[in-house]
Amino acid sequence: MAPTRLLPRSLRARMTCVVILFVLAATTIVTWLALSLSERDMKSVIGQQQFSLLSVAAAHIDEQLATKRLLLASIAEAIPATQRTPAAIRAAIERHASASAEFANVAAFDGSGKYLASLRAPQQENPNVADRPYFEQTLAQKRAIISPPLRGRVSSLPVVVLTHPIIDSGGDVQAVLVGSIDLLNSDFFHHFNTMKPGKTGFMFIMTTDGLLVNHPNKARLLEHINARPGLNLGTQRALDGFEGWMEASNKDGVDGIYSYKRLNATNWIVAARYPTAEAFAPMISMRQQGVLAASLFAAVAGVLSWLMINALLSPLQKLRANLHAIRNRGGDISLLRSGGKDEIGELSEALYELTAERQAAQERLADSEKRARVIADNIPALVAYIDRDLCYRFTNEHYQFLLGIDPRAMVGKRFDQVFGGAAFERWKDCFELVLAGRRIHVERPGEELERHLHLMVELVPDLAPDGSVLGFYMMCTDITERKTAELAQAASEKRLRLIADHLPVMISAIDREHVLQFGNATYRRWLDTDPDTLPGRPMASVAGEQAYQQARAALERAFGGEVTEYESTARLHGEPRVLETTFVPDVRKDGSVPFVYALTTDVTRSREVEAELLRQARRDPLTGIPNRRQFEDVLDQAIERVRRQDSQMALAYLDIDNFKHINDSLGHAGGDEVLKEFALRLSGSVRTTDTVARLAGDEFVIVFEHMRHADEVRLLAEKVMAAVMPDFTVLDAPLRVTASVGIALYAGGTETAGGLIGRADMALYDTKRRGRNGFTIDNGRGLPEAVVVPP
Ligand code: GH3
Ligand code: MG
Repeated sequence: MAPTRLLPRSLRARMTCVVILFVLAATTIVTWLALSLSERDMKSVIGQQQFSLLSVAAAHIDEQLATKRLLLASIAEAIPATQRTPAAIRAAIERHASASAEFANVAAFDGSGKYLASLRAPQQENPNVADRPYFEQTLAQKRAIISPPLRGRVSSLPVVVLTHPIIDSGGDVQAVLVGSIDLLNSDFFHHFNTMKPGKTGFMFIMTTDGLLVNHPNKARLLEHINARPGLNLGTQRALDGFEGWMEASNKDGVDGIYSYKRLNATNWIVAARYPTAEAFAPMISMRQQGVLAASLFAAVAGVLSWLMINALLSPLQKLRANLHAIRNRGGDISLLRSGGKDEIGELSEALYELTAERQAAQERLADSEKRARVIADNIPALVAYIDRDLCYRFTNEHYQFLLGIDPRAMVGKRFDQVFGGAAFERWKDCFELVLAGRRIHVERPGEELERHLHLMVELVPDLAPDGSVLGFYMMCTDITERKTAELAQAASEKRLRLIADHLPVMISAIDREHVLQFGNATYRRWLDTDPDTLPGRPMASVAGEQAYQQARAALERAFGGEVTEYESTARLHGEPRVLETTFVPDVRKDGSVPFVYALTTDVTRSREVEAELLRQARRDPLTGIPNRRQFEDVLDQAIERVRRQDSQMALAYLDIDNFKHINDSLGHAGGDEVLKEFALRLSGSVRTTDTVARLAGDEFVIVFEHMRHADEVRLLAEKVMAAVMPDFTVLDAPLRVTASVGIALYAGGTETAGGLIGRADMALYDTKRRGRNGFTIDNGRGLPEAVVVPP
């Protein structure tokens, strides 16, 4: 839990709490620091004091021991060296009155430990100390010693024994004076014990081995200091040689100030313990007073600071009241402008500006939302915003128009609640994808609310700045009509394609780079090329370089917007074919021509038919020889050649004699037979360079070319006459047929074809006039030169 949650809700109370806490903490810390420092100093003073006191006590003990040793020495001195009898010794002891005060008893033993005399009668008959360590030690060292505490052999009381050897003239120990100090009852420690620190403190003495020489608990005398279980660090350190004072806990865990000092005479440890609780009792009461004072001070500071804060925060209270009035009672925001010049005044002013800006922004937002709503409602598409839980959050009016659903009733409902589970199943995959952050575009048919619709749907994820998807926008356009039209168009295109593929025409689309974009199935039939491989191939690679170069000029003009045509020849499946190609430009509205359509037709057959028709138009259908039209062309060309080559030619005009009679007697068919036979005979009688033609009825002409001289014409005329002469066989009967001939010679000059024909006709007329069956030659020099009558 945050510490601020423990504070009261009101700012005033919080600030007061904080001030109180700070004052309390400050006074507590200062008091604690001051007390700690003085405690430390005080401890040092007490410790030092204790140690000094102990040193005095130790000096006192040392002094006492020295006095006792001196006393034994003076007793020894007082014994005359010559009379060291027990009586003399006792007398010497008794002469020293202080001996009974200083010692529990003073006794003398000879060199073998045998009892000689004593101040007080011994409790035991003839005591012997030969085996006592202090005696052995005195004998061995031949000097005075102080024994460690020991138990009296008879009394079993704890004692300390001081010895003094009496040396004879030979230097041997003749006798030993032994003074015993009763550790329980003597006054030896009386003064020492009165110097104990405080009421509960105490002093004790132990040997360097830890044997207790003096202790307030007399039962523990002669016991080892650590006979009780546990550890006292101070005692341990003192046994190791420490002198001075220190703080330590006793074996019961109670703290105390310990002081240690060694005795000069015996090296025993004199110690004092002062319980800390007693030593610092004044300190503890000072501490309680300090805490009380700090609390009181904090309470006073709290009251004062509450009053001060109340006064200082009054503008804030006013601001709060103004804000409350603006929010809850519709107060005008100008209330916020009445602040002072301090920080709260500035805050109030800043709040006013922020609120004003926010109001303006809200108005703008409302306007913008209104515009967005108008736009969304008037878009001919379903527009919605759906959140992560698939609930509608926004819907436009088009839902009403297209599906008949009230868009306001949809808001807050889930997709499946509006359109049902089946529709949801259809859309589930799309929703999962858009909620994963993908933008979706789908066109699909669907049964939404029992209406068959084809929808184009755009799903756009609403991405938060951290990339998470908050929901998505859904825009559905009804493309049912468009889709129907597209399907119809596709069907129509399929039909057209089918037709194009089965037309005996090679159809292709060529782009401006002369690359094929399309080709129909005729490519397969004519060129063994799969039309599907055509798009993208240059025209030259499909048709061949030569054919491409042939087509190029017409193609370039087609890209200029003109429909062009050209004819070419090609070998298809090894056969020579004539192809006619029409280039149709695909002219766009802006006049550009992105494509040209090429329609190539195999016109070999029609060209053949045409040629045949043309040939037939120049032939006489009955006889098969050239007709008048052909004759006229041939004559013109012949005249031209004569003029160019400076040669000669002749035109013979022939007419069968009395043909009407033949017709009349043999019938029209018979007449036709005669005409055919007549044409055959004429054709057979001339050179291949000459031309025989039938002009009409029974009229024929012959154009003789390349004549070397004028006389040649007579031979030609005779040859023709000779060919006609033999009887014809008509309808299985022989028939004599004769003809009249008029020949005009032409040897250059300006004479026209008409003039030449006129002259030949005139010559024929002459022959008829003279009785028929003969020829007349007009050599072009006035009247006919030669008139030949047949035999
Ligand atoms: P002439 O000796 O003066 O030439 O007398 P003709 O009887 O031959 O008279 P003409 O040359 O004027 O007669 C031509 C006749 O030929 C007239 C017509 O009936 C006949 N005729 C014209 N064309 C054909 C045809 O194609 N077949 C047949 N059988 N008769 C034709
Ligand atoms: Mg005739």
